[in-house]
Amino acid sequence: MSRSFDVVVIGAGPAGYIAAIRAAQHGKTVACIDRWQNRDGKYAFGGTCLNAGCIPSKALLESSELYHRAGHEFKKHGIKTGGVEMDVAAMQKRRASIVRQLTGGIAGLFKAAGVEGLVGHGKLLKDRKVEFTPVDGEPEIISAENVILASGSEPIELPVAKFDGEKIIDSWDTLELDAVPGTLGVVGAGVIGLELGSVWSRLGSKVTILEALEDFLFMADRDVAKAAAADFKKQGLDIKLGAMVNKATANKKGVTVEYEDKNGAQMLEVDKLVVAVGRRPVTDNLFADDAGIQLDDRGFIDVDDDCRTRVKGVFAIGDCVRGPMLAHKGSEEGVMVADLIAGEIAEMNYDVIPSVVYTNPEIAWTGKTEAEVKESGRPYKTGQFPFMASGRAKAMEQTSGFVKIISSADDDEVLGVHIVGPMAGELISEAVLALEFSASTEDLQRTIHAHPSLAEAVHEAALAVDKKALNFPNR
Ligand SMILES: Cc1cc2nc3c(=O)[nH]c(=O)nc-3n(C[C@H](O)[C@H](O)[C@H](O)COP(=O)(O)OP(=O)(O)OC[C@H]3O[C@@H](n4cnc5c(N)ncnc54)[C@H](O)[C@@H]3O)c2cc1C
Repeated sequence: MSRSFDVVVIGAGPAGYIAAIRAAQHGKTVACIDRWQNRDGKYAFGGTCLNAGCIPSKALLESSELYHRAGHEFKKHGIKTGGVEMDVAAMQKRRASIVRQLTGGIAGLFKAAGVEGLVGHGKLLKDRKVEFTPVDGEPEIISAENVILASGSEPIELPVAKFDGEKIIDSWDTLELDAVPGTLGVVGAGVIGLELGSVWSRLGSKVTILEALEDFLFMADRDVAKAAAADFKKQGLDIKLGAMVNKATANKKGVTVEYEDKNGAQMLEVDKLVVAVGRRPVTDNLFADDAGIQLDDRGFIDVDDDCRTRVKGVFAIGDCVRGPMLAHKGSEEGVMVADLIAGEIAEMNYDVIPSVVYTNPEIAWTGKTEAEVKESGRPYKTGQFPFMASGRAKAMEQTSGFVKIISSADDDEVLGVHIVGPMAGELISEAVLALEFSASTEDLQRTIHAHPSLAEAVHEAALAVDKKALNFPNR
């Protein structure tokens, strides 16, 4: 007799595994299928995020940042280190160990919640049947009351710079490099390109980033993007905007990159070339032709605001559906869908999803940019506070950047918060909460912030909106 579950989830990335656990918390019988295989041949839950994305990149960003600070900043603190050396193998061992602990943790969470973790390929058939093909066995048909597709995304390959896994590489390869390349080219100055470029640049690589668009970090507030670009330049990251790559050829020594910018045809020779031009949804062999699933014109699984596909009882969440490709967006969709399946009222507020770039300085924002508010025609006011005037930032020797708040001029509602500076990725949570609760600037102004803390910069920026900043002259 075929097995049957209340909920079958295909994909155990941050969208799928969270959906599975939440559904089990509602008392549902749940199976979660995933086929992810790491470079060591081992299968693991956690998807891109834990195995080849968020977590390993942050591990390397931390190691490389500490190395950089030891070499450049410790002296100011009076710390004499002698020569500082980087042991790339040890750094990578630490990265791999963190990944192992966290992905192993999901297997433990599944066990505790009563989720059946199935290792292999899942394919949706019609009538909410799922074909499960274990990595080491024969296909089995599983019945489900509800199916959640959470198949994630994969790097986009440029036809003019095809991955060879050796010299022209993707983000996963770049996270697993075992030596610092002398020179590194990065195609794409998006979040992934900037983070990976930062890692290897801090470790000594000469990094050149080629970005086709003229605008740097086009999705961020212009003030923030400008400040970050200036910092990256100081750090030696060579970011070339309006640079369109026409051809990349791997050769014995490295890669020859031909690109075009406003001055005409250009050439760049690098040891390795990372192509980080975005990611595309994974939908190959995910559902049968007669399963009723539709894709939109960009190849994402077509869903409504509640992540429902057009097939009753079948949902899709995470990177394989519209919206920002972020782990926390996928996880929240997972929670929402599991709650809906359990008959609860649940919804996602897509307007306040935080975005973070874990460079130095970090960049984080939520809500609308100033350009977006201007475009909407709503009258607005803004306030800024520089970390240069923050006691905590000074003590940390991390004074670059600022907090910028955009509020409505008519009812004082906070519309957007943009941070470039130390721990921006942590500080943004206060702003997300403020927007989630439709807080006013005055709410932030009258909230007591600990002293000395970086969060005081958020408080002061809120005060600055009404020209009431206390620790910086108001303009
Ligand atoms: C280098 C890098 C850094 C990143 N940093 C961040 C960050 O700091 N913060 C952030 O929010 N986001 C970050 N991201 C993005 C983040 O990783 C993704 O948004 C997130 O992983 C999406 O989650 P998901 O569950 O939708 O998909 P994935 O994590 O891609 O998981 C999908 C899973 O589905 C499995 N699967 C697919 N099809 C099938 C099938 N038919 N049968 C069985 N299994 C299947 C795959 O094996 C995979 O395990 C980063 C990405 C990269 C590449």
